[in-house]
Amino acid sequence: MTVTASPVPILNDNYAWLLRESVTGATAIVDPADAQPIIEAIEKAGGRLDMILLTHHHADHIAGVDEVRARFNCPVVGAVADMHRLPKLDQAVKEGDTVRFGDVTAEVIETPGHTRGQINFFFPDGGILLSGDTLFSLGCGRLIEGTPAEMFDSLRKLKALPADTLVCCGHEYTESNARFALAVDPDNKALHEFVGKVEQLRAAGQPSVPSVLGDELKVNPFLLAPDVASFTAVRAKKDKF
Ligand code: ZN
Ligand code: FE
Repeated sequence: MTVTASPVPILNDNYAWLLRESVTGATAIVDPADAQPIIEAIEKAGGRLDMILLTHHHADHIAGVDEVRARFNCPVVGAVADMHRLPKLDQAVKEGDTVRFGDVTAEVIETPGHTRGQINFFFPDGGILLSGDTLFSLGCGRLIEGTPAEMFDSLRKLKALPADTLVCCGHEYTESNARFALAVDPDNKALHEFVGKVEQLRAAGQPSVPSVLGDELKVNPFLLAPDVASFTAVRAKKDKF
């Protein structure tokens, strides 16, 4: 394991993710939407920032980018498809591209659905997925710009990653997602156990994430949907829940 990820709680319920590569000490921040707490977290971790990674253009993921960049003078990586509405990019990436980070590389996975230009980053070394607003623990992003078929296909790519992948998502939505998951899948024993652990973590003031992909595959109603039609139905139900 050479890459580790820790959540930095910002805004109402967002997480930026602080990544550390242990061989070179390289440090990156994902979706720094609020500069002050992020600069503090970076200073606390040694005061070094080598890279800013962006999953999508929404303000609750990018609002602090310019201030953090100005403070640490580091490159910003984001989707070429959304260059026109992202902060200035130093590396504009698309599906299949790799991003060099210290001694390791991240793979870029395009996951349209929540937004058209959404991307996720996967670090095979460390087994870390930055899933933005595509995949949440027990949930998935709302379809603001994409179709259910696009989101289903995006989630299909994420489902194919190794089962021990750590899902580092953009929001602490797990408890509210759990209420919906339990409503649509009340007899799922693994789900009840999963929700019990989430409640313990939240009651102790801890983040419920990252979660493990192999667990999500058994409990997340959007990953359990076997085809586009059932995914569409679950998504529509959640939108009205
Ligand atoms: Zn978003
Ligand atoms: Fe968001």
